[in-house]
Amino acid sequence: MTVIRVRGTRAATWFAMSNSLHPGVFLTAKACKNKRSERRKRGDKGKKTGYGAFMDLITTTAELASVCARFAKHPVITVDTEFLRETTYYPLLCVIQMASPDEAIAIDALAEGIDLNSFFTLMSNEGVLKVFHAARQDIEIIWHQAGIIPHPVFDTQVAAMVLGYGDSIAYDALVERVTGHRPDKTHRFTDWSRRPLTAEQLEYAVADVTHLRDVFAALDVDLRKRGRSDWVSEEMEILTSPKTYDFHPERAWERLKTRVRKPKDLAVLMEVAAWREQEAQSRNIPRSRVLKDDAVGDIATHAPASPERLATLRSLPKGFEKSQWGADIVAAVQRGLARDPGTLPKIEKPRNNSNGAATVELLKVLLRMTSERHAVASKIIATVDDLERIAADDKADVGALHGWRRELFGEAALALKHGRLALAIEKGRVVRVERT
Ligand SMILES: [Zn+2]
Repeated sequence: MTVIRVRGTRAATWFAMSNSLHPGVFLTAKACKNKRSERRKRGDKGKKTGYGAFMDLITTTAELASVCARFAKHPVITVDTEFLRETTYYPLLCVIQMASPDEAIAIDALAEGIDLNSFFTLMSNEGVLKVFHAARQDIEIIWHQAGIIPHPVFDTQVAAMVLGYGDSIAYDALVERVTGHRPDKTHRFTDWSRRPLTAEQLEYAVADVTHLRDVFAALDVDLRKRGRSDWVSEEMEILTSPKTYDFHPERAWERLKTRVRKPKDLAVLMEVAAWREQEAQSRNIPRSRVLKDDAVGDIATHAPASPERLATLRSLPKGFEKSQWGADIVAAVQRGLARDPGTLPKIEKPRNNSNGAATVELLKVLLRMTSERHAVASKIIATVDDLERIAADDKADVGALHGWRRELFGEAALALKHGRLALAIEKGRVVRVERT
C-alpha cells in the first residue's frame, strides 16, 4: 500500500484526484525508503558503483539509456540537478536526480565517459511532464550543455506562489508544509563535484526528487480545484522560452539594475556590459570577478575615455587602469561614445515626480490586500516596476494589465488610479470602496 503523508483533511482527496489525473501511483518518501531497505535486506550492495547500500547511482551511458527509456513511459517525472557555479561562468553539472512513480535514481554527470544524451532527449520528450522546484537554474544548465530547453515543465515553486505559499518558497519549507515531512538539510552545502559521492550525499540528493512527487500531486490538484492551472502554464511558457536564457553579450545590459538617463550613458553601459559578459564567458569566470555591477554602472555614468579618467573611479581597485582589463574598458567606453544615438534602444522617461511616487505607494497597498485576499504571492501578480509603469501610463505593456492579472488586480489598479475605487480601513482591515 502506498501511504501519502499530506497534512490536513484534504489529503485523501488530493491523493485520489492526483492518481486519476496522472495514472500511476507516486511513491512517497516512506514507500521509497521501504523499497531501499528491502533491497538492503536482500543483500543488493550495488557493487558496481561502490556506493554500498545505495544502488541507484547511474554512471554509464548504457545504464542511463535504459533508465531514460523506463522514465519515458511515465506522463510525469520529477527532476533536480546539483551543480557548482561559485567560481565559473557556466555552472558545472555534477549530479542529476530523477524520480518516477516506480523509482528514484541519481546520475553521476561527472562519471568518466558518460554521454548524457538520452537524458537530454527525455528532457525534450513532449509526452513527459518534467516537474522541478525552482527550475530556472536547472533549465539554464541543460540549455547550456545540450542546447535544448526541457519541455513541458512544471515548477512547484511557481505553483506555490500561485497558491499563496508566499514568494519563492524553498523546497524544504514547501515539502514540510505540503507533506508534513521535514527534509534533512545537512548536505545542502556539500561539494557535489567531489568523488566518490557518499551514500549520505546521494540519499540527500534523491530526497530532492522523491518528496517532489508528493508536492506536485498536491499542488496540481489544488490548482485545478481553484481554476489556476492556466496561471502556472503561462509562467511555464516564459520559463521555457529561449529568450529567458539568451545571454548574448549585446543584451547583457538589460539584466543590470542600473538606470541611465542619457543616451550617451546607455551606449557606454551597453558596450561595457557586453565586454564584461564576453570576458566572463571566454574565461569561464563569474561576471563579478571581471567587474562588479556597481562598477559597470559607475563607468556608464562617468564614461572615462582614458586610463587617467578611469583611475578616478572609486568603484575600481587601485591600479586597475594600468591592467589589460583597464585598457579594454577604456576601449569599450570609446566605442560607446562613438555610437550613433539614433540606433540605441529608447530610454524610459524617469517616473519620479512626487505625485507618481504616492500613487505607487497606494497601488502597493492594493496589491498587498489583493495578494492576501486571493492567496497569491504578490510577486507573481505585479512587480514594483509594473506598479510604476501603471502609475505613469494606463496602457503600459506590463504583465499586471494582461490576462488573469488584469482581472485580479490590473483593473482595480486603474480604478484606484482614477478615483473610481478607494481604499479604507474597516475594523482594522484594508477594504476596497467603490466610488461613483
Ligand atoms: Zn537539489
